[in-house]
Amino acid sequence: MYDEPTRDRALALLAQHTLSEVSRRTGVSRAALRDWRAGGPSRSPAACPRCSGATLGASYAELLGFYLGDGHISRAPRYFALRVSCDAAYPSIIDEVETAIREVRPGARVFRVRAPGVVVVQAHWKHWPCLFPQHGPGRKHERPIVLEDWQRTIVEAQPAAFLRGLFHSDGCRARNWTTRVVAGEKKRYDYPRWQFTNVSADIREICCWALDLVDVAWRQSNHQTISVSTRAGVARLDELIGLKS
Ligand SMILES: [Zn+2]
Repeated sequence: MYDEPTRDRALALLAQHTLSEVSRRTGVSRAALRDWRAGGPSRSPAACPRCSGATLGASYAELLGFYLGDGHISRAPRYFALRVSCDAAYPSIIDEVETAIREVRPGARVFRVRAPGVVVVQAHWKHWPCLFPQHGPGRKHERPIVLEDWQRTIVEAQPAAFLRGLFHSDGCRARNWTTRVVAGEKKRYDYPRWQFTNVSADIREICCWALDLVDVAWRQSNHQTISVSTRAGVARLDELIGLKS
């Protein structure tokens, strides 16, 4: 038997090295490494909510937002790897991505791969494509991204969680300013706004649809960016999704 730290270290190394290399470095057998990488077998065998017909809620809606924002699923021989790239400057969001993964897949082994400025939160599972049927070859903006009806139903029930995932990955809350002449005097006004930037037109459209669900006014501010800049819209979004931290 191997202890938890050994297992965690081996899994983190597996993200970047071959099985043989990790086995050599850690002394863990290749068979055990294969099992761990596939997410089993000593983990509680978490049933896939899609295959078992279980209900999915806010955690899924949030993870779907993170996936559409900065997530990626890649295929390995025995499993799929879900990776969500997070800005290292927002440790709470990194924790949140991990929590959402654990809630969607109880018993998941989640690990973090660090690169300069980025923390990639990663988990392996055979069933990721059941949960994210948008998975496909190539990059997300190079293929159509359409939510399935069951996903829309979940987002309609949990729009705040979904928007939180989207805006906390590909969004930012920036301060903006403008000047106005009031009674002959030039005055500076500061105001915050939320922006969501994604190269996929389909994902931007899904973002706008979700904003409509919660009556937040938006506009397309450049070809890749959706802005929420009305005072009421920003306040509503702040209340629904919280600030990035
Ligand atoms: Zn499944």
